[in-house]
Amino acid sequence: MRKVYLDNSATTPVDPQVAEAMMAVLTGVYGNPSSVHEDGRQARMAMEKARWSLAGLIGATPEEIVFTSGGTEANNLALQGAAKARVKKGRHLITTAIEHHAVLDVMECMEKNGYDLTVLPVNEEGIVAVEDVRGAIRPDTTLISVMHANNEVGSIQPIEAIGELARERGILFHVDAVQSLGKLPISVINMNIDMLSVSGHKIYGPKGVGALYLRKGVRVVPMMFGGGQERKVRPGTENMLGIVGFGEACRLAGEGLQEFAALAVLRDRLLDGILARIPDVKVNGPRRGSRLPNNVNVSIRFVEGESLLLSLDMQGIAASSGSACTSGSLDPSHVLLAMGLTHEIAHGSLRFTLGKQTTQEDVDYVLEKLPPIVERLRAMSPLFSETV
Ligand SMILES: *Cc1c(COP(=O)(O)O)cnc(C)c1O
Repeated sequence: MRKVYLDNSATTPVDPQVAEAMMAVLTGVYGNPSSVHEDGRQARMAMEKARWSLAGLIGATPEEIVFTSGGTEANNLALQGAAKARVKKGRHLITTAIEHHAVLDVMECMEKNGYDLTVLPVNEEGIVAVEDVRGAIRPDTTLISVMHANNEVGSIQPIEAIGELARERGILFHVDAVQSLGKLPISVINMNIDMLSVSGHKIYGPKGVGALYLRKGVRVVPMMFGGGQERKVRPGTENMLGIVGFGEACRLAGEGLQEFAALAVLRDRLLDGILARIPDVKVNGPRRGSRLPNNVNVSIRFVEGESLLLSLDMQGIAASSGSACTSGSLDPSHVLLAMGLTHEIAHGSLRFTLGKQTTQEDVDYVLEKLPPIVERLRAMSPLFSETV
């Protein structure tokens, strides 16, 4: 049976060149990067090369990169660490209703611990308005966190304008860029970003490694204490294997940026094909311009997203409904609800996320298999038979 992996926003396969770079470390570079001897220096050099690759990809300097265990840790360190460091200035935080749980849940936890939180709404395309951010700012606002691109519907946020606003008011600006790294150009300078979270496994690198960009001069209180690694902000002997793999993935992502943008052609082929073949389908998220080039999200009315996923899986097709983190729970996606979808429509949502390995044949295979699956499920659905 054909295998078609269209869940690249949940995670990506490791690029063979990344695996090769990691293998070289695993078998040949065993020194501790903090050691002064030759073996230690060799390890440090491999690690600093990775730091250069990531810094280059986002327009930062290597000293501004702190490696972490992933996007989740980077978000936690940025939000908790910066809020604590600036608590004398105030306790008000601003974020949006469509953030990943690795931001929203951190913010909600901080709210329980004495911070004030404003969660901004989004429009029906899943985009936050700069004017809403402006209206939410108070004298005691210390931190604004807005994601670059949404993991469920692919909507791209007006980061540059929000960053400009935050900078004018002396408020720190954090961006979760886990979904946009390697997919969209990022410049932390042009976008006025103070802190930026990224992750290895969403860009063909290994799982369990990520990083936080900390603009020079921005202070965060560490979450852990121990050694002096990573500017004392993230102690512990570095995850050499992960860091080198992540660095190689960043280097490849930089080279492949334009190629990735061209995925929009396959994205539109898939979306237009679904709309042409299946009636009663709603497109979730922006139609073209402000959307990630690899994201298709639709609600197929009168069927459950979970049943669609299982039927697709039996045909060798991997997709997701809402986000992988919420699959397995029956709560509809908080992102789709924030965009104004009813529970019923949100439940029928289906996300396909293409990757650099995706081919036109993959897309056409889905367009062949999906319509009969929908037809069969709708024939069994009491919701559907009531309407015909
Ligand atoms: C995957 C993801 C994260 C979490 O990153 P991990 O490295 O898996 O911890 C955070 N934010 C967004 C938008 C993501 O898609």
